Formats: sequence, structure tokens, C-alpha cells
Amino acid sequence: MIYETQPTASHYVDGAYLEDTDGTPIPVIYAATGARIATVHAATPAVIDRALTAAARAQSDWARLSGRERGRVLIRAAQILRERNREMSVLETFDTGKPLQETLVADAASAADALEYFGGLAGSLTGEHIPLGGDWAYTMREPLGVCVGIGAWNYPTQIAAWKAAPALACGNAMVFKPSEVTPLCALKLAEILTEAGAPAGLFNVVQGAGEAGQALISDPRVAKVSLTGSVPTGRKVYAAAAADMKHVTMELGGKSPLLIFEDADLENAVGGAILANFYSSGQICSNGTRVFVQKSVKQAFLARLTERLKGVVMGDPLDEATNFGPMVSEAQMRIVEGYIAKGVEEGARLVTGGKRAARDGFFLAPTVFADVTDGMTIAREEIFGPVMAVLDFEDEDEAVARANATEFGLAAGVFTRDISRAHRVIGALKAGTCFINSYNDAPVEMPFGGVGMSGVGRENAKAAIEHYSQLKSVYVRMGDVEAPY
Ligand code: NDP
Repeated sequence: MIYETQPTASHYVDGAYLEDTDGTPIPVIYAATGARIATVHAATPAVIDRALTAAARAQSDWARLSGRERGRVLIRAAQILRERNREMSVLETFDTGKPLQETLVADAASAADALEYFGGLAGSLTGEHIPLGGDWAYTMREPLGVCVGIGAWNYPTQIAAWKAAPALACGNAMVFKPSEVTPLCALKLAEILTEAGAPAGLFNVVQGAGEAGQALISDPRVAKVSLTGSVPTGRKVYAAAAADMKHVTMELGGKSPLLIFEDADLENAVGGAILANFYSSGQICSNGTRVFVQKSVKQAFLARLTERLKGVVMGDPLDEATNFGPMVSEAQMRIVEGYIAKGVEEGARLVTGGKRAARDGFFLAPTVFADVTDGMTIAREEIFGPVMAVLDFEDEDEAVARANATEFGLAAGVFTRDISRAHRVIGALKAGTCFINSYNDAPVEMPFGGVGMSGVGRENAKAAIEHYSQLKSVYVRMGDVEAPY
């Protein structure tokens, strides 16, 4: 047992914890030590059926409440999350290995923001009145029904809440499947929603790997699927949802560019590049992993970056002085090591890092490659680890063209003091989420999502409402009906 308030069973269904040991055991490994800290069981078909049945029942009652009444539950859940921030943060650290210094400010806090924001919005979700001369029409904003959320392992609390909050605000119910690598946090969110007054069955959590995800997506009771995951998984999930014309949101991977011009504030640019590559040990979908630096400032940039990386404190994630944690799993560490080896083999210059730390757990040092060229594997594929690729460029047009030469389009950033250039470059970059003189800020008020292979739809902000509701249009004739015969 991690601590006394950890989840007490594998699943959370119909307002309570549920166990079914017939499901395949899934070990929960603490990334900082490699030790097994819990075991959950994959959902059996019976568990999945119970979750979907409960969700369908809860949804019809929930949708009949006023938006304000629904919002009140979400806002209360946000308050409870904030009150229990430390407890939730410790659980997040055990689930992912991310340092407590991060989880205390980034995870339950972000989940609470989403619940509070969409709770506040719920009462203002309306249709519109459309005058048509004598006649008129109106639209009603209706929920979709039962939504399925499928999460990646890097932000288990945040991902669950970013999907649940808009879904529930719009009057839907949800069945959420966390990544099997990080199964714990979503269970606590479910528990908190119940405590906040959510009816039994409104938000359910079932465990399992891709198989459980597929079973959920293909069930006819499901109206929508929201996935956070890799592009290959996105393809499969999108295809499965298309068979029944289900709505989808796809938050997928990226290989985002960060452009640093010679007129940028160097200290801020280095800080931005650090945030864009090493926060959460680089396991962030929107990371700016292709750092294009204008040639004239490349040496100064690399020198200052190397200097600042001396401030990395790698160690026990529960020690609040630690600011750099392990990879989420041994498998992920090996994937990242493979990319580092490829970088060296293909001729990139290893500036710093590139090695495992001499300690238990899945720790990899923050790694910087310079002299990276566009064709190298480390410049083309998503690594999802602490590996920064620095590429140099001569001028703006060249940098923009090379930045856009990717199938992904999740995020992009630019550092420059030239205000016109900042907006011109951002306007030309093909990406859904952009940053000027900053990187990776994700306030709930701002839509988040990608273009191209990085995804479909948007999370957060008012934009998310469009993806969890549909319009019914009603034409109202005020006079007689004129039929031709
Ligand atoms: P995966 O794509 O491997 O898995 C994502 C989720 O999908 C997991 O819960 C997984 O289950 C499930 N899954 C896998 N196969 C299927 C299937 N055939 N049908 C239904 N569900 C399936 O991603 P990771 O968990 O490895 O996360 C890393 C990826 O997520 C990176 O590419 C990253 O860029 C992306 N990501 C995107 C974000 C965004 O907002 N755009 C944010 C965070 C991450 P299981 O793993 O248990 O087998």
C-alpha cells in the first residue's frame, strides 16, 4: 500500500469501487525504484458491460438537470481536488514517477481548473434564436450520450479531468480507461466526483490495455471517443469509431518546432527550450523537441543551456528538492535510449547527457544533441523523453519551411523580440497550439489540440463544448402551411 487513501480496487463503476480478479493482473511499477506498488486487473467483458450500463442510465437523468445544477457538482469536485492537492500529487508521483515538485502544481491543480471552468460554463450552454421573417428557428445544444475517454500515461489525472469536465458539463456520462502504465489517479478522480454529488454511474473508470479500449469504442451504447495517445493508436481508434460514425477527439503525438531568433532574449529562450524538452522528463506531447537556433547565437545558446542544466536535481521524486524524475517505465526508458543511440549513430553531436543515471529506477539524464539535421531520426520521430535536438538555421523563411516539414502539427513556438516577426512566423507555422516567447503553457481557457497527424478536435476552452455536444435545429412556422397540392 502506498498510503492509506490509495484506490481500493481496480475499477470504479456505478458510484463505487469494483474488483474482478478474473481480469489479467496489471502490475503498477513505481518508476523511481522499479518496485511493484500495486496490482490492478484488466476489465473483463462483464465489468465493461456494467460500466456502460451504469453510464447510460446515469446520463439520461444527468442531462435532465439544469446546466447550473451540473456545474455545481463539477465546481465542488474542483474544490475537493484542491483541498486534497498534496494527496493527489503524491499519488500522481507514484503513478508516473514525476517529481512531487511538479505534481504539486501541475496535475490535480490542472484537473481542478478544468472542473471549475466547465462547471462555470455549464449554466450558460444555450442554443440560439434565428429570426426568419415571420417564422423562426431555434437550436438546442444537446449532449452526445455516453462518451469514452482513453488516456496516455504522462498526465493521468489531468487527461481524465480534461475529458470528463467538458463531457459532464454538457450532460454526457463517461467511461474512462487510463493507460495500463498509470491506472491509479483516474480512480481517485471518480471517487471525488461521487463525493461532490455526481450520480452513480456518471463517471466510471475501467482498467485494461488496448483490448479494453477497443471493446469500449465498438459498443453501440457509446456516442463519442476521446483519445490521448500516439498517432498509431489514434489511427486504430479513429477507424473503429468511424465504423459507427461516432464522434471523436484525437489528442496525439508531435515533433514540434521551437524557433529561436538571434534577437531573442537568450535567457528566456534557454528557459523556454528547457521547459519545452525536460519538464516531466520530456514526456509531454506538445514538447518543442526540434529547437531551431539561428546560427549567429547557436554557440551562446548551447553554452548557456549546458550551464543551466547543471541545475538539474535528479533523485527521489518524493523529495521536493528533486526537479527531474525518471521515465515512466523501463520500456519507455529503452525506447528513448534507442533514439539516443540512433542520434549518435547518424552523426548528431552529443552535447550533454545521453546516459542512464547510476541509481535504481528508470532515470535518463537530460540529453542535448547539436548539429542535428532534418533527415535524422531524432529530428523526425517523436521520442517522448528528455532529448533535445538543436538544429541551426540562417534565415526566417528557411526556418519556417523546415519547421513545417513534418506530418505532425501539435505545437510550435518562437522566441524573438521583433513583434512583427513573432506574429508572422506563428501565422506561417502549421500547428494547433502556439507560443510566443514562452512554451507549453496550457491554461484551461485556451483551446489545446493539433493539426495534421497530431489530431482532430480541441480540448479545453469553449471550443471543447463543440466536441461534447450537438445541435438540434427546430424550424417553427407561425402561419399556414402552403403545400403545392
Ligand atoms: P498509446 O497510444 O500507446 O496509448 C494511449 C492509450 O490508448 C492507452 O490507454 C492505451 O492502452 C490505449 N490503446 C492502445 N491501443 C489501443 C487500441 N487499439 N484501441 C483503444 N485503445 C488503445 O500512447 P502512450 O500511452 O504511450 O502515450 C504516449 C503518446 O501519447 C505519445 O505519442 C504522446 O504524444 C501522446 N500524447 C498526446 C497528448 C495530446 O494531448 N496531444 C498528451 C499526452 C500524450 P494501454 O497503454 O494501456 O495499452
